[in-house]
Amino acid sequence: MSLRIEGLRAGYGEIPVLHDVNLEVREGEVVALLGRNGAGKTTLIKAVMGMVRVFSGSVAYRGRELIHLPLFRRAQLGLGYVPDDRRIFPELTVRENLLVAQRPGRWNLEQIYRLLPRLKEIEHRKGGLLSGGEQQMLTIARTLMTNPQLLLLDEPTEGLAPLVVEEIARLVLELKGEGLPILLAEQNLKFTGQVADRAYVLETGEVRLEGEMEDLLHREEVAALLAL
Ligand code: ATP
Repeated sequence: MSLRIEGLRAGYGEIPVLHDVNLEVREGEVVALLGRNGAGKTTLIKAVMGMVRVFSGSVAYRGRELIHLPLFRRAQLGLGYVPDDRRIFPELTVRENLLVAQRPGRWNLEQIYRLLPRLKEIEHRKGGLLSGGEQQMLTIARTLMTNPQLLLLDEPTEGLAPLVVEEIARLVLELKGEGLPILLAEQNLKFTGQVADRAYVLETGEVRLEGEMEDLLHREEVAALLAL
């Protein structure tokens, strides 16, 4: 088991946003968190990273309780977080953005460029000059450079053109092929159907539905919960 969340209540200040959430990500699995805006997807991913207040419950990574560990310790243990606001350094080049993130392990510059040839083509361009799709690829690539053992992606396709979404799907599937477990928050059902093995559908901070992605794709409640 990569990640096991049990009975999680978490939120901001005095206000819980997530209520009794249970969720698992097994080794090698791609799991999606679906839900409309405000359902609590980002809050859940942030709770795994230690960025929001946890009122009760458990977040265990490879059997180890994380709840009392700060963010940097969780990153050291192998959690890689890709936020939805694509925090790259605008004044650094693509190459520099990658190199500052590097830690020893599976991924280095050459392997990243093999996985994402577009980044090699623009390696001397400043981060601030990239298109939305290029920024998203660079953000994911930066996190890979830290050599995570579990990848958390917050709305990786948000605001991207369909061709770029295809590229992100290919990337996610390639990482899955490497055996990297991935938890991703999404609203794009088509993309999620292409990449995820299982999904959890959140509404107002609670898991309303969960199951195999193939089954969920055909359930009318999913479209209703996503307001499609
Ligand atoms: P989105 O797609 O809009 O990011 P989401 O499913 O990720 O949606 P969250 O961002 O987790 O949803 O928000 C869940 C709830 O928590 C919302 O009601 C939101 O208003 C509230 N919330 C989010 N961030 C904060 C914050 N910093 N302080 C207080 N409440 C917050």
